[in-house]
Amino acid sequence: MRESMLTITQPLRGVPAPGGYDPEMLFVECARCGAPVMWEPGKATRIMNMAGIDALELDSSCLLVTDGCSLCSAEKEFTVQIFRVSAGSAASLPPRTGNA
Ligand SMILES: [Zn+2]
Repeated sequence: MRESMLTITQPLRGVPAPGGYDPEMLFVECARCGAPVMWEPGKATRIMNMAGIDALELDSSCLLVTDGCSLCSAEKEFTVQIFRVSAGSAASLPPRTGNA
């Protein structure tokens, strides 16, 4: 199981961007080696546009996964898939202790 993903998804900070979630804020992970992938500014937005994905469909539970990265592959282009991390397993999360 990949429960560690749940720790990756951060709650949204502040007010959601008007017009949808900023693709640049999405977490990108390499499916091959599991490393977080850093893209240059604008790349995520470009890929979303190319894929025809509307920013309105995105939120902080979305995760981009590439089939390789510069750490584990000599390729320059990778296939990118978008996943939505389900909130269905929220019951297994440790209880939160709040400080007012
Ligand atoms: Zn990799």
